Formats: sequence, structure tokens, C-alpha cells
Amino acid sequence: MTVRTRADLVSLPSYVPGKSIPGAIKLASNEVSAGPLPSVVRAIADAATAVNRYPDTAATDLVARLGDKLGVPVEQVAVGCGSVTLCQQLVQATCTEADEVVFAWRSFEAYPLITAVVGARQTRVPLTPGHGLDLDAMADAITPATRLVFVCNPNNPTGTALTEAEIERFVERVPSDVLVVIDEAYKEFVEDADVPDGVELAKRMWAAGRDNVAVLRTFSKAYGLAGLRVGYAVASPEVADTLRKVYVPFSVNALAQVAALASLDAEDELMARCRAVVAERTRVRDELVAAGYEVPVSQANFVWLPLGERTAAFNEHCLGHKVVVRAFPGDGARVTVGEPEENDAFLAAARSFAG
Ligand SMILES: *Cc1c(COP(=O)(O)O)cnc(C)c1O
Repeated sequence: MTVRTRADLVSLPSYVPGKSIPGAIKLASNEVSAGPLPSVVRAIADAATAVNRYPDTAATDLVARLGDKLGVPVEQVAVGCGSVTLCQQLVQATCTEADEVVFAWRSFEAYPLITAVVGARQTRVPLTPGHGLDLDAMADAITPATRLVFVCNPNNPTGTALTEAEIERFVERVPSDVLVVIDEAYKEFVEDADVPDGVELAKRMWAAGRDNVAVLRTFSKAYGLAGLRVGYAVASPEVADTLRKVYVPFSVNALAQVAALASLDAEDELMARCRAVVAERTRVRDELVAAGYEVPVSQANFVWLPLGERTAAFNEHCLGHKVVVRAFPGDGARVTVGEPEENDAFLAAARSFAG
């Protein structure tokens, strides 16, 4: 007899990771190209001698440090095995199969998959013509079945960001029993002063009696720890508590915990790297625009090229130049901003495609 797995998962596609091709420049996964800092590598190596022991499942030191840094009680911080896992935990914490998750589309690839895996329903709300989240349409899409709304800010893969006023107006429109999740995976690359710090915004909302705002952050992007898998949520005590209930025990491993702490110790150095990526982002976008491409202004460590039907050909062309981008055929290509030489190789490929 064949094992009876869930029928609704048969047609579900698997998550497509950015490709790694030997010898090619990888600009497909929004990683930081620079390797981990020596101090972080040392902390990981030191901790390696104790991996016969289980990690601290509560990640006590890391949670305390984050609470301190963010100015929130430890009860309101929950860690996860990457913030993608926290996305799943949040859906598990709020939805059963009758319930519904609302998110923009196109946005983070994992939202539709996670929602389907948990078994909840989903509503995808098209982006604006300017490739940003359409918050009015998202608010209109909320029904009595809606339990959670993902707001990716800046948005992956388009790089566009919402202002403080836009998010506040949106939260005021959302029923207070529907959780608004502000996914800030790229927060450290934001330079527009009108784009809010989600945690500060959430604190103001909580103080006004709205506990339905949560914020997700990760050590994978700006902190350069994508390979170790650690992220965190900042939420009301009740939501954070529920997140801990659906947490798979020990899933934030011991090396990830020490590496995250060592990265917080080296925050100034890491943020200086982010500023360098931001400067490169401006250069890459300016040169693409000069070459004739439409490129929305990005607040993240990548740029979006809405190439529509030309996306697959652009992808092949870049691969031919040994540059791996992230293509969403029929829609566009997302290109991570790497080191200057990597960006030069990509720009050369892009110019020869246009010209
Ligand atoms: C990369 C990313 C994440 C999560 O990354 P983790 O490695 O799982 O922490 C979450 N949200 C968005 C929008 C991302 O792009």
C-alpha cells in the first residue's frame, strides 16, 4: 500500500532556492558577499567543542541581549530557526484550515508555501503599478476569516518600502484581532528616513492598546549568518508566548546562538558593511537606469528588474556571463547587490543584454 500523505500537498511546489553554480558569481539569494568577521568565526569555533550538548532551547542569552538592544521585555522576544521558520510559526499560531492569510504578490516566496503547508487559505493582493505593496487593497481583502497579514518591508523581491504614515494608517484599518506581521529581513539596508523602524512602530501601537502588530528580523542578511539559521520575532507577550508553544525544541542551534551574540558585539563593523552595500545599490541602479532598464528605487540589498516576458532570456544571458540572478519567469529578476567587482560583472552582462 502507498503511504497516504496529505492530498493537498501533492501539487504544492517546493521552495526554489537561489542556484549555486561553481565558478559563477551568485547574486541570487540576498546574502552578504563578504565572509563572516574573524571574531564571529572564532566564537563559532570555540562553541564547536561543546556541540555534544543540546543548545539552550530558550536561547536565554540571545533573547536577553535582543530585549536590551530593542528596549522590550524578554517576554516579547521569540527566536526561530531563521525568520522563515518564524513566518511558519506565526501562521501555525493563528490559523487552522478555515482561516486565511493575506499577503501581497509578488512578495516573499515562502509566504504562499508556508501558508499551504500549515493548511490555511491564502489571499494574494497584487502590487501597485510602482511595484509596491497596495495597503488599501490589502486592507480591503481582509475578511472575517483572516487571521494574519504579512507586510514585507522592504518588499522582497521588489525592494520597495512603505512609509511610517502608510503602515500606521493600514494598522488602523485592520481589525484588532488580525495579526499584522511586519517582515523586516532587510531593515538594515533602509536609508529612506520615512521608512519606520517596525519595532518602534509596534511599541507605539501596543501602547495605544493595539497588540496585533509583530515584527520579524533575521541574522541571515545584514549580519551575514544565512548558513546558521537564526531570526527573531518581537510581539505582544501573548503572541510571543504562542510562538514559543509552536517552536520545535532546540531548533536554534548552539553555534547560531553564539554567532548571533558575537555579531551583535560586532554590530558597528557589520552596519558599516551595510552602508557600503547601500552605496553600491545606488551605483548599480543608476547604471541600470542609464542602460535603459526600469528599476524601482530599492531600500534592500537587491534590485528588481520587472522584465516581464524577457525575464527568462535575461536570466540565460546572465548565466552565460557566469552571473546567477534570481529569475521569476514572466515577472522579473531580482539581483543581489554584492561586492563592487561582482556588481561590475553583473552590470557588464546587463548592458550587453540591453544593447
Ligand atoms: C531572507 C528572508 C527571510 C528569512 O530569512 P531567514 O534566513 O529564514 O532568517 C524572511 N523574510 C524575507 C522577506 C526574506 O527575504
